[in-house]
Amino acid sequence: MSFRYQRTYTGPLQAVLLDWAGTTMDYGCYAPAVVFIEVYKRQGVEITVEQAREPMGAHKKVHIRQISRIPAVAKRWQEVHGRPCEEADVEKMFQEFVPLQLDCLADYADLIPGTLETCAEIRKRGLKIGSTTGYTTEMMDLLRKEAAQRGYEPDSTVCASEVPAGRPEPWMCLENARRLGIYPMAALVKVDDTLPGVEEGLNAGMWGVGLAKTGNEVGLTAQEIDALAPEERERRLTRARTRMRQTGAHYVIDGIWDLVPVLDDINRRLAAGERP
Ligand SMILES: [Mg+2]
Repeated sequence: MSFRYQRTYTGPLQAVLLDWAGTTMDYGCYAPAVVFIEVYKRQGVEITVEQAREPMGAHKKVHIRQISRIPAVAKRWQEVHGRPCEEADVEKMFQEFVPLQLDCLADYADLIPGTLETCAEIRKRGLKIGSTTGYTTEMMDLLRKEAAQRGYEPDSTVCASEVPAGRPEPWMCLENARRLGIYPMAALVKVDDTLPGVEEGLNAGMWGVGLAKTGNEVGLTAQEIDALAPEERERRLTRARTRMRQTGAHYVIDGIWDLVPVLDDINRRLAAGERP
């Protein structure tokens, strides 16, 4: 025989893996951004909010390192310190980052509109809810309590610090699947507001949904977005949607409130034999 038959999963979705900041809480993904700016400021290096947001989604220490490698930041660091930013500097900034982030996390813990309604729908369909994050376990202990007080309690949470590497590597997603006891990975979908967050799901062999409006890509609260001139609002949203699409997201929606019809569409595609 010169051929073989191919096995395809045609069952339904079994779990949704949700990101935290910018996806289910902290509209605009502000909490980490403000603290990255502060830790660099303490080293005498002013960074812009765009620079602070560029590596968003990564493990927070990796994020600090990646900011230091942005050419404009590297240049400024050299001017101020007379040498490049080294690993010891990254380590020092991360040590300062942790308490600062813990101090302000609760200020940015309000749920993004639609989170509770969407999670109720997800559960009604018998799917599990897992989650991944660039925050550390210590930060997540605090955030999970804040979220629970607001009615949001995912079945599983995996932090970047619990796996060999964070986003865009797939390990947090795979660890969620293991903890939830769910396979194959085609039966899971990842929802995230950052490019590395979408990529981690795709790298895990999952469906990927990008959120254009509520997270790091636009980087503004709902009120700030409403206050933009219509052309500027559209320009920012179009840019976000394009970047998400180019990363490979199967779907790009504005926020978690639009997720339920996407789940139905993925189920239709799975039943027809399509793979992520
Ligand atoms: Mg996020």
